[in-house]
Amino acid sequence: RIAYVNGQYIAHQDAAVHVEDRGYQFADGVYEVCEIWQNTIVDMPRHIDRLDRSLNELRIGWPMARSALLFIMREVVRRNRVRNGIVYIQVTRGVSRRDHFFPPDDVVPSIVITARSSNPKAADAAAEKGISVITFPENRWPRVDIKSVALLPNVLAKQTAKEQGAKEAWYFDADNNVTEGGSTNAWIVTKDGTLVTRPAENGILRGITRSVVLELVAREGIAFEERAFSVQEAKDAREAFVTAASTLVMPVIKIDDTILGNGHPGSIAMRLREQFHTATDFLTV
Ligand code: PLP
Repeated sequence: RIAYVNGQYIAHQDAAVHVEDRGYQFADGVYEVCEIWQNTIVDMPRHIDRLDRSLNELRIGWPMARSALLFIMREVVRRNRVRNGIVYIQVTRGVSRRDHFFPPDDVVPSIVITARSSNPKAADAAAEKGISVITFPENRWPRVDIKSVALLPNVLAKQTAKEQGAKEAWYFDADNNVTEGGSTNAWIVTKDGTLVTRPAENGILRGITRSVVLELVAREGIAFEERAFSVQEAKDAREAFVTAASTLVMPVIKIDDTILGNGHPGSIAMRLREQFHTATDFLTV
């Protein structure tokens, strides 16, 4: 495997950043994960726009021209011969003597790009079964709209889920409303068949997969409401699912100890999963 690190393509096993990289010391950096599907990087322009927004919010400069970044992303995918999988991009504020203050202006941001293959058949098999989620009190900082590499709360929540036999943790806020998953956006279909997801204004990351699914929902004429929903409403739901670039639409069949519906993936979730790639933008690698 090949990784791109600060201007060089190197063997993945030797890929490393400096010990004084601010990403390493302060989690002072941002990232993106894009799906690679049939040799194409899915929704790349939207991911690049979100990367731009994350960088701006943290006042980190672009490490290179956008066009160069697109080229290198494609090159990393190509060199790793990834047909289906993910490409990962991380940008940090760079390497400087440890100090909380921003480094001097001549410090350049660090960039790492990696790619790896996944098995679409295994993912589809997992979707046929559906996943379990646990609920978990929201304990993250209020700027979760920034796709920062500071993911320690998410790591702890997801590990707790795993130890309880679940795949994801759904955060709930002080009003007992679900915000999102540790690495996914959260959706439910109510008993009367309305699809519901929380607005992206606050408390969640504006998922790219979420925005594509919203377009698909509009195209398909599925009844939809963008509003907060409570943990109890989720447990009473007919179906539920999560979305992320790495898992696409993944049905949820159990929340804590509550089995949803008949315990099988819901029909809206499966329909959106099947149709997902008919609604996205592609750029051939
Ligand atoms: N919410 C969180 C906290 C995430 O980490 C992610 C993806 O990693 C998402 C939502 C889904 O975002 P996207 O669809 O852009 O992958």
